[in-house]
Amino acid sequence: MSSSANRRRLLTQSPGVDAEFSVTRYLAHLARSGFGATRAAPARPRLAVGAGDIGVTFIGHATVLVEMDGVTLLTDPVLSQRLFVIKRLVAPGLPEGGLPDLDVVLVSHGHHDHLDVPTHRGLAKRATVAVVARNLTDLVERAGYERVVELDWEQRYEHKGIAIRALEVNHWGTRGLLGDRRGYTGFLIEGPSGTVFFPGDTAYTPLFRQYGERFSIDVAILPIGAYRPDSFRRVHMNPEDAWQAFVDLKARHLVPIHWGTFVLSYEPVDEPPTWIHTLAAAAGRESDLALLQHGEGRVFSRAVATRTAER
Ligand SMILES: [Zn+2]
Ligand SMILES: [Zn+2]
Repeated sequence: MSSSANRRRLLTQSPGVDAEFSVTRYLAHLARSGFGATRAAPARPRLAVGAGDIGVTFIGHATVLVEMDGVTLLTDPVLSQRLFVIKRLVAPGLPEGGLPDLDVVLVSHGHHDHLDVPTHRGLAKRATVAVVARNLTDLVERAGYERVVELDWEQRYEHKGIAIRALEVNHWGTRGLLGDRRGYTGFLIEGPSGTVFFPGDTAYTPLFRQYGERFSIDVAILPIGAYRPDSFRRVHMNPEDAWQAFVDLKARHLVPIHWGTFVLSYEPVDEPPTWIHTLAAAAGRESDLALLQHGEGRVFSRAVATRTAER
């Protein structure tokens, strides 16, 4: 089946849902699933990340701690208790003792579930550099970073032997109600220990196949939530889209994010992780799926990655 036919099949095969967003229905869903008490995430010891290892810890939503080659990176930090009226379902899963010293903070775009100004102000910094999508500098420049680096797609920034490359994804960046020309980007993190891909928010895009040819990706950190109503799939992936992205990227391991933290859409809160697990099992690749709970981390070692690649 051609790729576009395949896409059409995916788009029409989605479970029966409204095509467009209804505020009333969303608020009803939010009231049912998003207004309980925020669950605590059990604090776990920090990962032991050795030479040649990539450590990935799911803090919550799109906030992920990546540790490799002695460099510590945090993606799209949002640690606040609520986003306007939307309360967290699970508290941030911070390691025991809190976050380690951060070298780099990545910001994929300006949507409030990815860029929370109070979180940026509150993060402890020690010569920490923020690497952000285009036209986001003003939002974080007074947060105490040593430097704010804006990257356009395909631009690179090197920090302590790690290269961060901005890559086009399929989303949009407007933060306010009016068009504000905020940018959006994915990031590829490359170091001696391997390569990590973090697209931020994205819909499925054929670009993933190109990235799979261009790069040797060890860990793909992919969003799997906020896909109902169906119109949301113009900007987000459902688990089926994310699985296709994972296959196209030829990544060795998949870490799903953007689920179970904030209710942003109609799908049942526990549907995305169940669905992605079903897809991994059907493909015989359960061992390549790292379905981390909030606060849980995984170390991907080069030896394991190599074994997987040779299979
Ligand atoms: Zn977004
Ligand atoms: Zn988002």
